[in-house]
Amino acid sequence: SIVVLGSTNMDLVAYVPRAPALGETVTGRAFRTIPGGKGANQAVAAARAGGEVAMIGAVGADDFGARLRAGLEHCSVDTDLLRTAEGPSGTAHIVVDDEGGNAIVVVPGANGTVTSLDHGDEALIGTADTLLLQLELPLSVVVEGAATARRLGVRTVLTPAPAQPLPPELLATIDLLVPNEHEAAALTGLTDPREAALALLRDVPEVVVTLGAAGSLYAVRGADPVAVPAPRVRAVDTTAAGDTFVGALAVALGEGRPAPEALAWAGAAAALSVQREGASTSMPYRTEIEAVFGS
Ligand code: ADP
Repeated sequence: SIVVLGSTNMDLVAYVPRAPALGETVTGRAFRTIPGGKGANQAVAAARAGGEVAMIGAVGADDFGARLRAGLEHCSVDTDLLRTAEGPSGTAHIVVDDEGGNAIVVVPGANGTVTSLDHGDEALIGTADTLLLQLELPLSVVVEGAATARRLGVRTVLTPAPAQPLPPELLATIDLLVPNEHEAAALTGLTDPREAALALLRDVPEVVVTLGAAGSLYAVRGADPVAVPAPRVRAVDTTAAGDTFVGALAVALGEGRPAPEALAWAGAAAALSVQREGASTSMPYRTEIEAVFGS
């Protein structure tokens, strides 16, 4: 099974002709509230891809928190260890203009209260085969979660987003690092994804760099990196493509598929998601992935 140690956010999205400058008011065309957060998105992606998934993190004691929890449960994600913290849920305040450009303010809210694990969390992680981590919770709990999983023999998969320098004690406990090409460049200073992947292999044993429409790159110590192309599709909304990819990848690896096949399977899932609007709403179910990939 898969445990996600990560964030839940309510995305508050205003669609505007152009973004306002400081001190200015503009009239928007539409407004939507969309459940998100990288942790929750990866949890939903993995559950839809057929994984048994539990989520550790926190929602706030507000209406958004109740909706975020219910949304995860509706997707069959186990929320028994998802805390309800005093105060507001995490929110992302997003302005999207007519060119598709965006400006975002993230307020961590309840996510910021998850600073350490308790015994229940450790026990749950110990039952899993894979722990999925991102960087939208306090770094202290990400470090503790990865170390706990490593000690218990659970595979650790880190999405290093939002991009930031990674402490060596965190990297030392990561089995698989999955940056997109921008994050790979930020971590290494190398814009060529192949060179960046090879540089990252000094710190972790396995790296997958996602390359948008170009697919993904798999690198493991002692072998040449392997490029896995993405299916050619018409993309309408690439929000959460990376989270869909990682969730599906965890399921495929957990089933024992060899890495290149697992990347292709995850790429099939992500390609389905970019052909539909939205974040979690766009994530494919296992039957849909199998329909394009074969089982
Ligand atoms: P992120 O969403 O984190 O920025 P990417 O843009 O690299 O990450 O996308 C993640 C994965 O989603 C890619 O590796 C690819 O498999 C898939 N993907 C993204 N955009 C497309 C696209 N236009 N066509 C097909 N697959 C895509």
